[in-house]
Amino acid sequence: MQGLDGRDAQADNIAAARALSEAVKTTLGPKGLDKLLVSSDGTIVVTNDGASIVDRMEIVHPAADSIVDVAAQQDSQVGDGTTSTIVLAGALLAEAESLLETGLHQTTIARGYTLAADRVRETLSELAISVDPDDDEQLRAVARTAITGKWDREASEFLAEKTVAAVRAIERDEVVDLKRLTRKVIPGSSYYETEVVDGLVIDMDSSSTTPVSPDPDSPDTFEDATVALIDDQLTIETASGQGTVSLESPDDRHEFRKYEREVYDRYVGRITDAGTDVVFCQKSIDDTVRHLLAKAGVLAVERTRQDELEKLGRSTGATPVGTVDDLTDADTGVAHRVERRDLGATEVAIVDGGPGVDQASLLLRGGTQQVADEAKRVVDGCFHVLSRTIGEGVVVPGGGATEVALAQDLREYETDVSGREQLAIESFADALEEIPRTLAASGGLDPIDTIVELRASHHDGEQTTGLRLESESARIGDVVEAGVLQPSAVTERAIASATEAANLLVRVDEVVAVTRKDDDHGHDHDHDHSHGHGGVVEGTDGYPWALGH
Ligand code: ADP
Ligand code: MG
Repeated sequence: MQGLDGRDAQADNIAAARALSEAVKTTLGPKGLDKLLVSSDGTIVVTNDGASIVDRMEIVHPAADSIVDVAAQQDSQVGDGTTSTIVLAGALLAEAESLLETGLHQTTIARGYTLAADRVRETLSELAISVDPDDDEQLRAVARTAITGKWDREASEFLAEKTVAAVRAIERDEVVDLKRLTRKVIPGSSYYETEVVDGLVIDMDSSSTTPVSPDPDSPDTFEDATVALIDDQLTIETASGQGTVSLESPDDRHEFRKYEREVYDRYVGRITDAGTDVVFCQKSIDDTVRHLLAKAGVLAVERTRQDELEKLGRSTGATPVGTVDDLTDADTGVAHRVERRDLGATEVAIVDGGPGVDQASLLLRGGTQQVADEAKRVVDGCFHVLSRTIGEGVVVPGGGATEVALAQDLREYETDVSGREQLAIESFADALEEIPRTLAASGGLDPIDTIVELRASHHDGEQTTGLRLESESARIGDVVEAGVLQPSAVTERAIASATEAANLLVRVDEVVAVTRKDDDHGHDHDHDHSHGHGGVVEGTDGYPWALGH
């Protein structure tokens, strides 16, 4: 089939986007359900993080794909609000379907939605609450709101504390430059071993081919350490310029060993002459060199990534040299402290540049690599949200309170708008209430009764009434008091992006197939989504995404 025309194409697009929205909806909020994601390589991830889910889904419908793209942008720009974006887009499309049925023109709907979104932006600034950027408790509340539901309450609280501590460690004059923060995932321990350390954490052996056994000769801690950075290898190949040497006679072997020894001694000599205590090398270091260095009291770290070398340079003032023969004491830098530490199966070097060098690392522990990676995603979102809160100093009430307030405002505003767009604005208000409705349902409350109650409370001027899902029993109440706060930008971007995504699908009434792969289907099943690397196990008929490809 060439593609669908007119209304059919539009209906098909809307249906696909709505199906995606329905599937993701169950994960919204702290009481949202977890999803089990199984990718084609057999990797299994359990998560209820919207960004993580859509990132891993193998979307096969272009309309659903466009929603995913918008959601992915939300995640990369503000670090939170992904599920909300998709739920809202789905709700706007559901409303649009009804409007189309009653005969409202698609462009009228899109115009009405745009008017509503513009109004929302203005109203949001009135609903915003300023936060004191120095108030740790408020920041922890923001962090908690972003991460609740990802773990149990105790773990969320713990990680909220750690992420705030990490942000504080790198904050300067109310600016949080996340480039100063290293997130290091080290599996094999409990979450509660997660810690914030001052300085950079450099992996000493994750990619090393030789097992590292801490040399008993070299100390674990170096104070005021002279640091050298070598953007090369400390192996014999460099010197000989060839990979193999043929050694035929005992004399040859003797000669080679002599030569080898000379080269190694030269390496070590250059390094010790420069006064080095710790040397980081971008490539490998021959065992003999490491051994000789250890004997000379120098800690040698091999296979340090290029970006880490650069960070080390910034932290210590050292300049990476292209070859060890170029190394002089002018190229070295100083670290306040370098510590070698064993973290289960991983050995790391912690390099603290000292006062004035704001580098901090979050050493994220926990379970398996996948569990720890998932945790990293979530704390990354959290860092985003925290840096925004500190930078912008405003938050809005979460738990659906803001959406209810915005809906109420839109219903008033709509009477000022003449023309049929009014109907679309009314529908937009209804769509916003899908957030509290979904949160209520996840908490086991009756969605209709909840909306009625929330509207009444807001009508009485209580703009901070929403869902409180922080404890076992869900209830309606003051969300600010409960500390359910999120950066205004999360809500603003979520609504704006959902509007854009919905408008796009409402306006499009023709699908032109530019690549025809399969004449029996209207959908391009070969569509390969750039974010997707796995199928999702879901109790649906596999539409609009592929089931376990
Ligand atoms: P998203 O992908 O949008 O971040 P989440 O699953 O994180 O989706 O859900 C976010 C929603 O949950 C927001 O509306 C937020 O205000 C709300 N929320 C977070 N914590 C609470 C809480 N303790 N009580 C009620 N709602 C909460
Ligand atoms: Mg969230």
